[in-house]
Amino acid sequence: MDELEPPRPTFRMWRRTFGRSMKRTFLRPQMVAFLPAIMLGGYWYGGQGVLMIIALTFPLILVLGGLFEAELPPVDSLTGLLTRDALREEIEDALLAARAEAEATVVIVMEIDGGSNLETRLGIPAMEAVLCRTADRAIGAVRGGDKIAKLGRYRYGILVGPARNAGMDMALRTVERIQNATADPISIDAASVYVTLSAGFCLERRALRRTGEALIEAAEAALAEARVPGNGAVRAYSREMRAHAEMRSSIAADFERALEEGEILPWFQPQVSMETGDVSGMEALARWQHPARGLIPPVDFLPAAEAGGHMERLGEVMVFHALSALRRWDREGMHIPNMGVNFSSAELRNPRLVERIKWELDRFDLDPSRLTVEVLETVVSETCNDTITSNISGLADLGCSIDLDDFGTGAASISNIRRFAVSRIKIDRSFITRLDEDPSQEKMVAAILSLAEKLDVDTVAEGVETVAELQLLNRLGCGHAQGYAFARPMPIDEAGTWLQSFSARQIQPSSAASA
Ligand code: C2E
Ligand code: CA
Ligand code: CA
Repeated sequence: MDELEPPRPTFRMWRRTFGRSMKRTFLRPQMVAFLPAIMLGGYWYGGQGVLMIIALTFPLILVLGGLFEAELPPVDSLTGLLTRDALREEIEDALLAARAEAEATVVIVMEIDGGSNLETRLGIPAMEAVLCRTADRAIGAVRGGDKIAKLGRYRYGILVGPARNAGMDMALRTVERIQNATADPISIDAASVYVTLSAGFCLERRALRRTGEALIEAAEAALAEARVPGNGAVRAYSREMRAHAEMRSSIAADFERALEEGEILPWFQPQVSMETGDVSGMEALARWQHPARGLIPPVDFLPAAEAGGHMERLGEVMVFHALSALRRWDREGMHIPNMGVNFSSAELRNPRLVERIKWELDRFDLDPSRLTVEVLETVVSETCNDTITSNISGLADLGCSIDLDDFGTGAASISNIRRFAVSRIKIDRSFITRLDEDPSQEKMVAAILSLAEKLDVDTVAEGVETVAELQLLNRLGCGHAQGYAFARPMPIDEAGTWLQSFSARQIQPSSAASA
């Protein structure tokens, strides 16, 4: 760590410090009390000239001190928190102070998990209320001298210290206090909204450069790692993370090659029928098995794939491998009623999509009913695109099932559900979390289930993690469940082994919950 650059005072910092010391030195009450004596002495000693100089010097110091000392730090208009620029300056001041006093500082960056989904679900005014409430709770949870800023739409930055014990422990304790303070539900229009915050932090001594921006960026790189598992994960910045961030930017260039060389393959996650306890389907989820970098999750490559215009090709690869897995399991005597594949809006904009899917199904000799097309609720609710509309209807007419993914995060109307011939809605994970502990979550899920029943569409709950959630969903009459409570997504061979052992156990819904 010795190669670290020491903090370098910038002109702005020097200006602020100079302004403050001038005011501090010359405008103390004692100095003001002595002012008449100083002026008299000056007159006696040097006559009118000196008197004039003294009379002009004091107001000049006052004006210059005010100009030099920084204006009030800029604040975010919504939450009243500091802005990114203001936090950067606070960090630089803290770095200098910490160095003088042999202390240290830590910078933490925290972000609301799934913020944009939540905003789509709640609408902007309600989301702004959530952001303000979260900010207030975070302020209440930090120590007196710590500073909080708003760094992005759903992102907060916290400066801890300078303090003698500002290290790993203090950072973790601060994150924990903020996470605890923000865990209680926020009441919006008689509904409870839960937020979780993931966190990344950087200890001053770990940063590559000791500047405000470098510390914020390092904490943001750690946050990017924490967001992969999501759900309130915490990561400390390390030098390897920089390599990871660089890796993400090089991903875009490498993605096309990876697709063609077969490095991108589906992993499979089972869905279980609550009625029969049998596996009712599988969802194919893309994974990149990189020869040098190991397994890369979709969150790391989908944005690059989208930006590079590779989503259609990804869709082709996924459909091909998903259908060939289905065919293989059929041959091995394991009957999976259907296979869910995620269709992006880029794919749905291809006018030849229905034709291509029909061709793929024919090639594997599979009935169209075996393929479930997963379409995000946001795509359905926001689309006025004729090709997307006719593709979804065309796939439904072909005999494929249509699953409305992440249901509850968009604003699909009843007429949309009818228009797109949706066969099933996938209740978003945000409604399932703590379902068994929170009556308002239970009410929301019960309302969705009753809507589905009235519209005569089936239901599947996503992200079911616990036995208690599973039991309650079963009681509420949810059709199917998918989540870690049964299995995580698995590569094809592991999924085959899981299927064999699951069917051997002949699990029934109630015993599935206790398995
Ligand atoms: P999704 O379609 O909503 O898929 C469900 C995600 O939740 C998956 O994340 C899955 O691993 C995760 N998950 C499943 N059960 C649980 C659980 O019990 N707890 C928690 N915490 N998570 C659970 P994954 O595989 O990282 O995929 C993320 C998203 O990436 C998917 O969300 C989907 O929108 C997108 N995606 C994945 N593969 C493809 C693809 O081939 N094409 C397209 N267009 N999008 C894809
Ligand atoms: Ca999905
Ligand atoms: Ca989903």
